Amino acid sequence: MRILLVEDERRLSNVVKKGLIEEGFAVDQAFDGEEGQYLAESESYDGVILDIMLPKLDGLEVCRELRKKKITVPILMLTAKSQLENKVTGLQTGADDYLTKPFAFIELKARLQALLRRSHNQTDMNLKIDDLELDPIKHVAKREGKIIILTPKEFSILEFLMRHQNEVVTRTQITEHVWDYSYDSLSNVVDVFIATLRRKVDSESKNKLIQTIHGVGYTIKNSSIQ
Ligand code: CA
Repeated sequence: MRILLVEDERRLSNVVKKGLIEEGFAVDQAFDGEEGQYLAESESYDGVILDIMLPKLDGLEVCRELRKKKITVPILMLTAKSQLENKVTGLQTGADDYLTKPFAFIELKARLQALLRRSHNQTDMNLKIDDLELDPIKHVAKREGKIIILTPKEFSILEFLMRHQNEVVTRTQITEHVWDYSYDSLSNVVDVFIATLRRKVDSESKNKLIQTIHGVGYTIKNSSIQ
């Protein structure tokens, strides 16, 4: 999952970024409204965290502009306590939820995950294919009921594949959603991660779920049912 974080307070932004990366997200930072709007329009994000008080262009304006341009990415707005009326305005401009500053990271994480879940229309939070199960909130992956130990990056890639199960995803799609802007796209890196995932997820099962579609990318599907 790739998140855009638009927040001009650098210390807060860096703390949030660090926390989200530890949860397996890829995070791009923007430090003013214009930069935020530009990135939200030009890159592909799963969610945007948008502060209201920003230099150059405020968060409400950014949100309004994005919605006007039919960019439907879930937006979580950050508002200071003294600006409670902004909550209402924020939701009117098309934000999906808001959080009042100061906030605990755990609350931001919970709100963000709820937002991402709603945007994926998932009533059941767990992802499942054959006997492979993934709990995106608790960060647990299991095959045949046994826990698979995955790094945050490996977990993100597996989660991305499972959210798009039975579809073919390209290496570019994987890098776009799992790595951030500062990352130089080397498709080789994706292949290395997929090889590790295969070893951890598929090597001990008869039913190989992760499949290569030559010249295109990867898919995860249950090959034991036609
Ligand atoms: Ca601010």
